[in-house]
Amino acid sequence: MATQRPSFPVRLTSTASAATRGRMPAVPFKPMVPTTPSMASAAVRARMVQKLTAQGVSDPRVLRAMSAVERHGFVDSALVNQAYEDTSLPIGLGQTISKPSVVARMIELLLGAPALAGKPQDKLGRVLEIGTGCGYQAAVLNHVASEVYSIERLRGLHERARLNLRPFRLATVHLMLGDGMIGYAKGAPYAGIIAAAGGEAVPQAWIDQLAVGGRIVAPTHSASGGQALVVIDKTPRGLERLILEAVHFVPLKSGIA
Ligand code: SAH
Repeated sequence: MATQRPSFPVRLTSTASAATRGRMPAVPFKPMVPTTPSMASAAVRARMVQKLTAQGVSDPRVLRAMSAVERHGFVDSALVNQAYEDTSLPIGLGQTISKPSVVARMIELLLGAPALAGKPQDKLGRVLEIGTGCGYQAAVLNHVASEVYSIERLRGLHERARLNLRPFRLATVHLMLGDGMIGYAKGAPYAGIIAAAGGEAVPQAWIDQLAVGGRIVAPTHSASGGQALVVIDKTPRGLERLILEAVHFVPLKSGIA
């Protein structure tokens, strides 16, 4: 299925799938400007990045990563034309890929980790992502971190992320099937931990597996009964916690399914 997915934007199926495989289409067609689907998607992505900038995302590392990763390659073929809208989209099994603005915002926050203060060019070290979903955010994280460990509890999505990421041959992205509530001790300590699912509170395991100088960015239940983004820094003086804006993430659940 994943290998059959049409390129963005969808044209005639025959030409789009031929173009995806990098071969000449069987039926000749008159190219329009931009001339290839990947150029078209780059232009749409550039517009998405402009909008992110207008919304206040300013870290060049994040903007570069957001313009590099082809979000349309991670969503269902029926949703490809919405891939660069600022909206969350269904990815199956009741889960959603986060909005680009939320992905960018959370990664920008992650890059604000104390260890990177005053180092606007540097990458993060090892990062743990809870909730691989379709693998999109893991691909974005790969641009800003030296190593990405990403855990998903639903086998179907874990497999799907594998398929989605396979063409990129990312040696520094490690996908695991497991319960992210207990983190992933083998990769610890992490320079950053980012959650794409929201629970009651940030699990102690994440705090234990965070390096000094590292930062956790996660949605958690807020006092008002909704969800809010929380940022936790591990400093030599202890933990520093900041509650930010309201967000809407799928629930963090324990166990594998
Ligand atoms: N980052 C993803 C967003 C996926 S939505 C993307 O780019 O597509 C959040 C995901 O978190 C869901 O797939 C859900 O199954 C997963 N999840 C929820 N609780 C989890 C847990 N305890 N461990 C691992 N994954 C979890």
